[in-house]
Amino acid sequence: MAKEIKLAEELIDFIHQSPTAFHVVENTAQELEANGYKYLDIASPWNIDKGGKYYTTKSSSALFAFQIGTDEPENGGLKLISAHSDSPGFKIKPQPEMLVDNKYLKLNTEVYGGPILMSWLDRPLSLAGRVLLKGEDALNPKHTLVDFRKPLLIIPSVAIHLNRSVNDGIELNKQVDMLPLMTIVKDTLEKENYLLKLIAEQLNVNTDDILDFDLFVYEFEKGCLVGPNQEFISSPKLDDLAMVHAGLKALLASNNSASTNILCVFDNEEVGSVTKQGAGSPVLRNIIERIMEKLGKSQEDYQRSIYKSFMISADMAHSVHPNHPEKHDPVLHPVMNAGPVIKIHANQKYTTDGESGAIFESICKQADVPVQKFVNRSDMVGGSTLGNVSTGKIDIRTVDIGNPMLGMHSVRELGGTNDHTYVMKAFATFYNM
Ligand SMILES: [Zn+2]
Repeated sequence: MAKEIKLAEELIDFIHQSPTAFHVVENTAQELEANGYKYLDIASPWNIDKGGKYYTTKSSSALFAFQIGTDEPENGGLKLISAHSDSPGFKIKPQPEMLVDNKYLKLNTEVYGGPILMSWLDRPLSLAGRVLLKGEDALNPKHTLVDFRKPLLIIPSVAIHLNRSVNDGIELNKQVDMLPLMTIVKDTLEKENYLLKLIAEQLNVNTDDILDFDLFVYEFEKGCLVGPNQEFISSPKLDDLAMVHAGLKALLASNNSASTNILCVFDNEEVGSVTKQGAGSPVLRNIIERIMEKLGKSQEDYQRSIYKSFMISADMAHSVHPNHPEKHDPVLHPVMNAGPVIKIHANQKYTTDGESGAIFESICKQADVPVQKFVNRSDMVGGSTLGNVSTGKIDIRTVDIGNPMLGMHSVRELGGTNDHTYVMKAFATFYNM
């Protein structure tokens, strides 16, 4: 158990350091660099050697790391694991300062993806993201990351005395109920560019130098292990940073493997993936084509490689809910700490089929990791994920899997401590096959 707890604590640290997709990419890149991976700029010429380890990024919020194996890719195919860097929450709108009674200053936000709104109420929140600064070249503004790392905001709920029916269920309006309170101003002039001034101060630049920003609200409090035996991980963003972290650890553990291994961290899964840094963009296909060309391969070699390749699309899955088992399939009830879950959907919102499911089961067997299966109740519509979107761009055999969890899209999600080690072992076994 000690090993499992250590890895789960590393995950909690990784998530705490990575409040936005930009930070996920930066922290993943740092760990890759520390392990001998070389950065390749996506817009500059590449040199790739057999046995080499590289990574590239897209729009600062997606990352692709790869390790060129000793085998020819057209013989053994590529091994890919994909996950996503984004999570549901709130994005700050332009000119966000709003005054109430000339005193309370709150920030105007837009909902990103599908968060459980009520879970964001009454919690200390902070701000982080990317800031674009004036550069020499209008087409290439400088960018830098910002993370305030202190409690700055809070979305207060309405007192029960003012809403007696609150416990019967309330509808939270995204534009009315969810705006975070920031401060109290003494005069209305103070409101002007309040946030911009805070960012400038934090970054030690002039407000005039700030051209724009992509700022997100995040939960300030760090995750922790819960339960008498520390069996649960309670943390923000387990969906899908748990899979990013497990994929990264597995890649780093698969030195000098025969196959060419790729870790894909896409952005924008929570909003449908069809963006320039999402799984619905041509970016992965472009990168694979480029790797093949740099290895001196023909178009036919490329296609043979693709048709021999396999992808594990890793996004979290639902455990049976202890208070609501009736919301699940009558037979298949995944539970936490019983291993990763293969996600199956007859109408192919999950791309798993008999073949790709069988392959993942064999990988788990080889890794000595238990495996479970998930299907929706037949009268309920479930979520979707990366697999079916990415296979529309590059037709690689793919399985959709993820670790079982509760409270998906809550600001604070719950996963199983042992499952993190299980899935990492399965991934490492796959990369080393
Ligand atoms: Zn997800």
